[in-house]
Amino acid sequence: MSNFNSAKTVLIVGAGNFGAATALYLARHHKDKTVTLIDRTDSANPCAASHDINKIVRDEYTDPLYMRLMLEAMPMWRSDELYSPFFHQVGMLRADPTGYGEGSLRSYQALGAETSAVWLSVEEVRRRWNGVFADAHFGDLERIMFNPGSGWAEADHALKAVLQAARGEGARYRKGVVGKLEFDPEGKCAGVLLDSGDRLAADVVLLCAGARTAELLAASQPGRPEFHLGHRVVATGAMSFAGTLKGAQKERFRDIPVCKNVVEGVKGESMSMTPDGVIKFNCDMGFTNMQHHEASHQKMSITPDEAMYGTWQEEAFSDKFKTRALSTMKGLYGKEMDGVEIESYRMCWDAVTPTHDFLITQHAQSANLYIATGGSFHGWKFLPVIGKYIVKMMEDTLDVEFVRRWGWDVDDDHLRANPTYDTEFDLPVYM
Ligand SMILES: Cc1cc2nc3c(=O)[nH]c(=O)nc-3n(C[C@H](O)[C@H](O)[C@H](O)COP(=O)(O)OP(=O)(O)OC[C@H]3O[C@@H](n4cnc5c(N)ncnc54)[C@H](O)[C@@H]3O)c2cc1C
Repeated sequence: MSNFNSAKTVLIVGAGNFGAATALYLARHHKDKTVTLIDRTDSANPCAASHDINKIVRDEYTDPLYMRLMLEAMPMWRSDELYSPFFHQVGMLRADPTGYGEGSLRSYQALGAETSAVWLSVEEVRRRWNGVFADAHFGDLERIMFNPGSGWAEADHALKAVLQAARGEGARYRKGVVGKLEFDPEGKCAGVLLDSGDRLAADVVLLCAGARTAELLAASQPGRPEFHLGHRVVATGAMSFAGTLKGAQKERFRDIPVCKNVVEGVKGESMSMTPDGVIKFNCDMGFTNMQHHEASHQKMSITPDEAMYGTWQEEAFSDKFKTRALSTMKGLYGKEMDGVEIESYRMCWDAVTPTHDFLITQHAQSANLYIATGGSFHGWKFLPVIGKYIVKMMEDTLDVEFVRRWGWDVDDDHLRANPTYDTEFDLPVYM
């Protein structure tokens, strides 16, 4: 039985996309409850996965469940006054030999949804968009999917706007580092203890701590493995890097589509250029940071504490990272990138589940503790709608299909929701 419906106070730990979206939905639709969001910084944390230059927003998913959610979110990205100022509908190319494009077309069909996605020949892609893809590495591909309805969003600005809107609707925001969740002997979560020594009590607690969620639970109940997330989520990093285009090249790159290129040797994404000329890339690879967790005597992947491992840095973390970044950039644009300098690098950490499904569930051991995490490198774009689904989970009104996929114990006999960003190595080995 969920304790949410009778709760007067709701405490949300973590003001990334999952926490912020939930705070806004609660503040708008549950005026009877006092909602408090807590995070480490005064506003959106630059170390959060949700805080970024930009993120891809698309509705093509081979998995109808996520496509359905995005078919609900896309109109909001396009025309809702809160989200649309941050969305740039420049389209998206997907060069993908794995059959993902074909699979997503089947999903549109299965859902009876219209799409403007089309196949373009490689020659046409090379010719269009001022020839910026003329020298891209497309391997043996003969066709590339282009979806004009997709694009990118200004991630940090959109997140801040949602936080501001939540506060405007009455949600409270508190700066603080949660050291642990506190439980009574029956397993009821009483609230949180901050590193400052302050305590915050609440009728229900929603944990949206992203890549730090598993570590926080282990620190809270170190001797009780049944409270830990175990195999359910793994803190996983990925590398982004960025440069600035100038002069005539900046003009040629204006409003080019986002490009995801999964071809071997490229494996990466280039975002479209921002109006001030910044072009951001992601390497399509994940890495763990396996450490011994003292308190709970277990080995687990832990997001490094130092801000430098979560924010933009001028130097690559090692030559291996630099080499990988260069090969992704070269693969995406070939000679077009000659002379373009990589100015900054970032490690971005997300909570990754085995099937890349979200983990949005009541905690199995605690009736008033809820968890919303597991963005698995694709959770950002759901910002306009995910709060509603997280609240449905707490209300106990979530459709059974979502409960089956996002629950505490789930079947994992289906395809991964986001079949990219394979975990390739452990961080210490690459440094
Ligand atoms: C490189 C990379 C590229 C990505 N690209 C895309 C993309 O293009 N499109 C897309 O849809 N998705 C993308 N994603 C995925 C997306 O960014 C994440 O799934 C999503 O942002 C996760 O949101 P979150 O709220 O779960 O976590 P976060 O945004 O990480 O937020 C968690 C918050 O919890 C806070 N917190 C943690 N511990 C504590 C504590 N002890 N006390 C107080 N506060 C705490 C943190 O400070 C943080 O603000 C990408 C992810 C990465 C890493």
